[in-house]
Amino acid sequence: MITEGLGRLGSNLQINWDLVDLLNIGSRFALWGLFSLLLVEVLRDSYHALCHQVDWLAKWHNKHHAAYRRDLSLVSPKAYQDSQLYHDMFESGLLLVVVTLVALFSKQIGLWLGVFYAGTFMYAASMRYFLGTIDTDYAHQPGALDTTPSVWWVNRSYHWRHHFDNVNAYYSGVFPLVDRILGTGLSLQGKAIAITGASGALGEALSTELLKQNAKVIALTTNPDKLAAGNSENNRFKVLSWEIGKEAELKECFEKVDILIINHGVNAYCDRTTEAINSSYEINTFSALRLIDIFSSTVTGAQSKATKEIWVNTSEAEVSPALSPLYELSKRALGDIVTLKRLDDTCIIRKLILGPFKSQLNPHGVMSAIQVAKGIMFFAKRDFRNIIVTINPLTYILFPIKEVTTWLYYRIFSKPPRRRERQEEED
Ligand SMILES: [Zn+2]
Ligand SMILES: [Zn+2]
Repeated sequence: MITEGLGRLGSNLQINWDLVDLLNIGSRFALWGLFSLLLVEVLRDSYHALCHQVDWLAKWHNKHHAAYRRDLSLVSPKAYQDSQLYHDMFESGLLLVVVTLVALFSKQIGLWLGVFYAGTFMYAASMRYFLGTIDTDYAHQPGALDTTPSVWWVNRSYHWRHHFDNVNAYYSGVFPLVDRILGTGLSLQGKAIAITGASGALGEALSTELLKQNAKVIALTTNPDKLAAGNSENNRFKVLSWEIGKEAELKECFEKVDILIINHGVNAYCDRTTEAINSSYEINTFSALRLIDIFSSTVTGAQSKATKEIWVNTSEAEVSPALSPLYELSKRALGDIVTLKRLDDTCIIRKLILGPFKSQLNPHGVMSAIQVAKGIMFFAKRDFRNIIVTINPLTYILFPIKEVTTWLYYRIFSKPPRRRERQEEED
């Protein structure tokens, strides 16, 4: 009886060991499979980056660039066929050979998933070339760009920037991983960038960093005398005076601006008078929102959704104490409304979530404005939409939680303008 029972237990255990083995094989396959997809992505996009650096590779790759006009319509059927053969088929063939060799030598079954993935690119390119069908892939569909560049995958607006904004950036083809690594997820070269609060410590530091990236800076300040003297020798640096309440006067200037950085602010510290409440909200919240609306009204061209951006310095006060109640209240209101406005996808809106740095507003800041400006540049070039630069570790945990939950809540309980109008008509 006992031996029979032990025998049964033994066979049960045998089955469990088989199951463990199966799970091991399954998870190993999944891990290697995932790795191989990542490998294909990294190899293809790195090769693309190389094409723009090495002359003899550029000759082949440029066939691809030569096939499209600014609205992504085709230059000619011949140019398109050439680009399929010399670029798409050559590139995917090379990729297929490399990934197959890796799979053969490593003897991991999971890696064949990458071979299959690379094979789909080769198959699509061959079909387009041999059948002669003009059937462009999703990133090259012609017409106006009606969405902003995606942060998760390479959509039309994302890739359009590689063709017509800067060919030495935006190399990624499907997932923007390589651009994140290389810092080519956003090119500031030649961009017209207007910045408010330009005479403050961060404004000056950001202007310096932007000029280093070969951008043209329009310093918007309520204090023009302070700026003009120091930087006027540089013809990529212009100073423009503006006033709170007269934001509408900047519309003409914004028509030619690619990126607007809203960086001005006031700190009432421990003041709680009615005047302090009014001026905190007027300067930190409402003036910033008016600038966002005026700039948004200039996002009208067929390709402007791809290049126009707003960066808003909402500060770490969105989630952490700033030891100044009115500063926190007005900046939180601004941050929340920016989250609400992002739902309309008018243009990219980045938030700058900054910790305490030394400035006129905060003489006790721990970081220097230059350090913060360099941090902002690092993350902006890697296409971070929420740029957190602080020494407070809690902000890195609290801000993403707050942003995602607020975004979800606003998404459920608010509607885009068009749908709302239609509902009012029905009522
Ligand atoms: Zn392309
Ligand atoms: Zn290219």
